[in-house]
Amino acid sequence: MKFSEMPYTRVDFPAVIAQAQEIIQRASSAKSGEEQFEIHQEFNKLMDHVRTLYTIAHIRRDGDVTNEFYDGEKSYYDEKLPELNAVTNEYKKVLFATPYRQYMEEKIGPVAFKSMELEMKSFDDSLIPLMQEENALASRYSKLIASAKIMWEGEELNLSLMRKYMRSQDRNTRKKAWDAFSGFFEENQAELDEIYDLMVKNRTKQAQMLGFENYIDMGYCRMNRNSYTKEDVQKLREQIKTVFVPLASRMHKNRQARLGVDALRYYDMGVYFPQGDPAPIGTPEEILESGRKMYTEMSDETRDFFNMMMENELFDVFGRKNKATGGYMTELPDYGVPFIFANFNGTSGDVDVITHECGHAFQGYLSGQDPIMEHADITMETAEIHSMSMEFFTDPWMKEFFGDREKDFLSMQLEDAIRFIPYGTMVDEFQHIVYETPELTPQERRREWSRLEKIYMPHLDYEEDPFFSKGGFWQKQQHIYNSPFYYIDYVLAQSCAFQYKVWMDEDYKEAWKSYLALCRLSASKFYPEMLRECGLKVPFEDGYFEEIVEKLEKKLHA
Ligand code: ZN
Repeated sequence: MKFSEMPYTRVDFPAVIAQAQEIIQRASSAKSGEEQFEIHQEFNKLMDHVRTLYTIAHIRRDGDVTNEFYDGEKSYYDEKLPELNAVTNEYKKVLFATPYRQYMEEKIGPVAFKSMELEMKSFDDSLIPLMQEENALASRYSKLIASAKIMWEGEELNLSLMRKYMRSQDRNTRKKAWDAFSGFFEENQAELDEIYDLMVKNRTKQAQMLGFENYIDMGYCRMNRNSYTKEDVQKLREQIKTVFVPLASRMHKNRQARLGVDALRYYDMGVYFPQGDPAPIGTPEEILESGRKMYTEMSDETRDFFNMMMENELFDVFGRKNKATGGYMTELPDYGVPFIFANFNGTSGDVDVITHECGHAFQGYLSGQDPIMEHADITMETAEIHSMSMEFFTDPWMKEFFGDREKDFLSMQLEDAIRFIPYGTMVDEFQHIVYETPELTPQERRREWSRLEKIYMPHLDYEEDPFFSKGGFWQKQQHIYNSPFYYIDYVLAQSCAFQYKVWMDEDYKEAWKSYLALCRLSASKFYPEMLRECGLKVPFEDGYFEEIVEKLEKKLHA
């Protein structure tokens, strides 16, 4: 069904909750494993329907943030969804305690039971008012960011449309663009500080109410960290500081020489070539069409996937005024299809949508036929492997998108991925500090960020920028506000995508076979287990990064 034709009605929460409770009643007195499973599927179907409706509202609201109807619907769900969490949690308690556990584990997998355990540990009815406040704060942050109107050459631009100028080949232009960007954050610093401070205190209180020492362990439960601990992350962080930061620094030194500048400034961030970064050729419509051509040639699976997306209007990728910023892939479970939201702006970021977001969507499409809903509950460190690796798997088609600057794009892609690892790890360490010491003031938090920047990004120079030089850069990072502890998953996934990059350059076919297998495994097994089954190493292993760095170093100079 075409997205525009999908019917929408507001979810009637009292009715859904009553229906769910009736199912829970039956689930708690199931007479056999088979019956338990049948009731389970019924419960999931109901939740899928709710999810489909609020996702439709969410997408339509993001398509036009001034649409009062869908904006109202979104606020309604912000307020009501936590009530549904309570019912879901009640159901999970029943399922978790089922006398047919063994049968059910065989049916829906051990990962599902571990996830339930983590979820139950981090949720209680008593948290609902705080969770509602947390949701409202997240919306307040997103709204503030989306409300930015920057006057640029007689035009009013939002932050995502500014990005193009922040990476302009003309150094003065990009400095001016960065100044305007930073100006918005400086102007709104008091509110940005207030929102974050309230969030940290709110989350800390939630954690303490459930007996956690602070929000870190609770945050890990909420991110569904079912197969690694903060000690593993700590070890990973040390590896990155010792072997990966030096690689990134060498890469930045090369970049500096290539740009021909005396020092790398903050407004050189994301700029790789003096003549400007390779930008896609053609109109947004042509870029999408190149995507279709590429996926048609890549494999039968990718061809069918892309055609299905186009036919059903499951892309909203062209930039428009009043559209929410950012990009994401989501799913409409009633229809078994993914949806991709983005803002094309004429930079290589547009191609990332065709590669990265389509990687997510392709995986969703491949596993969309799986009747076990739990297999779709993919933890992020796995989900981002699907997307980040797809970015590399599409490398052979980049001529289509970048013409004679294909090679430049490929260098930029690799360098940008290398740049990300220290940054992503820093974002994660910052949050560990924030939630370990929730009493820090906004000024002290900024000081911590500045300190980390010197460790992870020693090449960076903010000159006299009144906002960034004082440690405010993180306040533009949506995940730090709205998705605590999410970022390390990107680091873990990028590390695995590097393995695929190395592998595909040696044997594309074998690497692709492994990738398809990983996509199909979805969330049926634990992260380390799935990696090993698909012939990949696990990033927490000793020496993992030494090996990756050695191979990447060669590619940098190739
Ligand atoms: Zn992603």
